[in-house]
Amino acid sequence: MNEPPDEFDWLNAFYRDLEGCEEDDELGVDVDASPVIQLVDQLLAELVSCEASSLHLLPQADGSVAARLRVSGVLVPSRHHPLASSLRLPLTARLKIVAHLDIAERQRPQRGLLRFGKRREPLRVTITPTRHGELLVLEFLRAGQAPETLAQLGLQPEDLALVQRGLRSSPGLVLACGPRGSGRRTFLWACLRALHGPRRAAMSLDYGSLQELEGVAQVELRRETGFDLADALRQQLHRDHDVLLLCQLDSLECTQLAVQAALDGHWVLARHNTSDAVASIFRLLDMGIEPCFVADSLRLVVACRLLRRLCAACREETTAEPDYERWCPGFLAAYPSAVHRRLCRPAGCEGCGGSGLKGVLPIFESLSLDANQRRLLAMSPYNQADSLRAGLRSLRASALLLAQQGLTSLDEVLGKTPGP
Ligand SMILES: [Zn+2]
Repeated sequence: MNEPPDEFDWLNAFYRDLEGCEEDDELGVDVDASPVIQLVDQLLAELVSCEASSLHLLPQADGSVAARLRVSGVLVPSRHHPLASSLRLPLTARLKIVAHLDIAERQRPQRGLLRFGKRREPLRVTITPTRHGELLVLEFLRAGQAPETLAQLGLQPEDLALVQRGLRSSPGLVLACGPRGSGRRTFLWACLRALHGPRRAAMSLDYGSLQELEGVAQVELRRETGFDLADALRQQLHRDHDVLLLCQLDSLECTQLAVQAALDGHWVLARHNTSDAVASIFRLLDMGIEPCFVADSLRLVVACRLLRRLCAACREETTAEPDYERWCPGFLAAYPSAVHRRLCRPAGCEGCGGSGLKGVLPIFESLSLDANQRRLLAMSPYNQADSLRAGLRSLRASALLLAQQGLTSLDEVLGKTPGP
């Protein structure tokens, strides 16, 4: 029986076939696949050792490839950055082979999966043609991962109590707001986990969610085929579900359907692209949802953010005097015990790859409407911003409290949370 051809042979054969073709000058490199295989292995090993979530290989104008890793939400150069121009095509070819993609296709985007080593978590390989060559992004898919519980998320005790109380009330709409990558989906899955049980039918409607929870029907939405949230919601609206977990409410129709489902007695958990909890309520009103429907359907709005954590080994104190009142008016009055200690900034050491940052810290701003707020919101919604904000610990205040403990930097606080 013939042995199947080695990947190495196939790669060399592929380049031999291309010899003499029009693009020979571009491909006219001495393709020895073995160093390329080693390089790919080294890049993948680095991805794991740095606890990076993704690897980006971006072709540059001079032919070289920028190799960067996303660590704690930030792109940092790989040890191998930049890669020589002679490596670009063999590297791309090698990654296409291991991700079972079409090695000859260079004009259209492609997407595949790559599994390596003992780690069984797959990497999603996305290839996008750009002006200077193909951009490759390898991203960990932590598929099949059970969602965290609310208690594991890192909510402050008062926020945790408020969220749990909100989820014990009658079914309605739960919104997680913030920009992409702020931890909204993780929060909603934790809510679903809290609501889920053998007596409740739950369904998620999302694009490529990686979480998995036994007993939850997971519907994969697909933009390519036009099967979007509005479509799926229309189909599922009158079915017998207790809990629906949705992706982002990005259109008026989706928002109307979600509110309608909540008013019909479903738990509806959805992401919202707004800056804070109160802004989410006004977004619903601005979209034309009747104030009484907003007041009746909304159970809980939680704004989420992920701040980068300072590396404890190398953080250093800043010399500047903190100016809490400018950053967050009323902060010192609300937190009189807030010490006037200096904040810390990132420095950089070997342990954090020189960035001064290591890991992330989630923060939350939780708003649950009481009966009085509900009544006022239904009557004169646009006068309620102050009453809704009263008693709410803002994202900015939560972030400053963490900065005071030396856990995050002022840049993170001011850059990631809405200011006055
Ligand atoms: Zn460090």
